[in-house]
Amino acid sequence: MSTNAWLRERATRTAFVRRSVSAFMPGERLEDAMTAAAAQERQGIRTIFTKLGENLTRVEDAEEVTQHYLEVLDKVQAAGLDAHISVKPTQLGLDLDQELCFRNLQRLVDRAEERQNFIWIDMEGSPYVDPTLDLYRRTRARTARIGIAIQAYLHRTEKDVESLLPLGAAIRMVKGAYLEPPDVAFPKKADVDENFYKLSCRLLSEEARRAGGLLHMATHDPVLVDRLTAFIDANNVPASAYEFAMLYGIQRTLQQRLLAARRPLRVLIAYGEYWFAWYMRRLAERPANVWFVVKNLLR
Ligand SMILES: Cc1cc2nc3c(=O)[nH]c(=O)nc-3n(C[C@H](O)[C@H](O)[C@H](O)COP(=O)(O)OP(=O)(O)OC[C@H]3O[C@@H](n4cnc5c(N)ncnc54)[C@H](O)[C@@H]3O)c2cc1C
Repeated sequence: MSTNAWLRERATRTAFVRRSVSAFMPGERLEDAMTAAAAQERQGIRTIFTKLGENLTRVEDAEEVTQHYLEVLDKVQAAGLDAHISVKPTQLGLDLDQELCFRNLQRLVDRAEERQNFIWIDMEGSPYVDPTLDLYRRTRARTARIGIAIQAYLHRTEKDVESLLPLGAAIRMVKGAYLEPPDVAFPKKADVDENFYKLSCRLLSEEARRAGGLLHMATHDPVLVDRLTAFIDANNVPASAYEFAMLYGIQRTLQQRLLAARRPLRVLIAYGEYWFAWYMRRLAERPANVWFVVKNLLR
């Protein structure tokens, strides 16, 4: 449903859908996101900003997104916020031309270098994994202000972790949000969860820390969070080596629990008008969300 144009046309005009999306994003404008970031920072929560949109088909649009993120980096510094940005390669033109995407990304990391900030590369569907890793490796050779998301549901990810570890990579571990066939991704959630735990422990290991790695554990799964904090404590992993990461509006109780335990926490705030595909993936992650929408539509 996230890729269905007919549904997107209708759903984004429905008042109820627009209202329910506000549970996951404070507003469509950057200003809304910055206000929410300032509020969460007062509680001790750091931020990641992402402007929604993907699979852009025009060079001008990729340029507009790049310009936008350059401004965000300036505004974040001016506002004194501790806020990274996270970009999708297909938002910077990957579908059009990999070199164009690489150049746009370099403009962002150069500005991040000037502003002492940090850029994350999101991971999209499985056909994009190789080009995205390539973008990351080439950029990492120029600067350490770059991190990459990798997906625990992919069979290949264990190998990718081993190849990234010696680079002292900043890695965001996620379960994975796209529909993938069983030969590409573990079909069972239990296997995905276990792989997330296993690979995160590997990236928190002394060897990874010696290489200079940073791990973002991006999950709202309380069981995984508890297992990972137990591992962190048992192995004396310093707080500088990791952060937990969650999405705005999801598992607020767990977020508060981590804050109370003085664990580093960064929350991703999404904004922008192209929220439909992203919102559908958030619904797909939790059947209760879909049921909530259906009940309201029937009413
Ligand atoms: C900071 C961040 C960045 C991400 N970046 C990427 C990326 O680059 N590429 C990518 O493929 N995926 C990305 N994701 C999404 C990720 O892959 C998962 O799809 C998503 O986090 C749901 O999995 P989970 O680990 O939270 O746990 P799950 O096992 O799916 O859920 C555990 C519990 O969390 C709660 N929960 C989870 N999702 C929701 C929801 N939508 N609404 C309400 N409650 C919910 C529920 O209580 C649920 O029981 C990112 C996620 C985060 C937090």
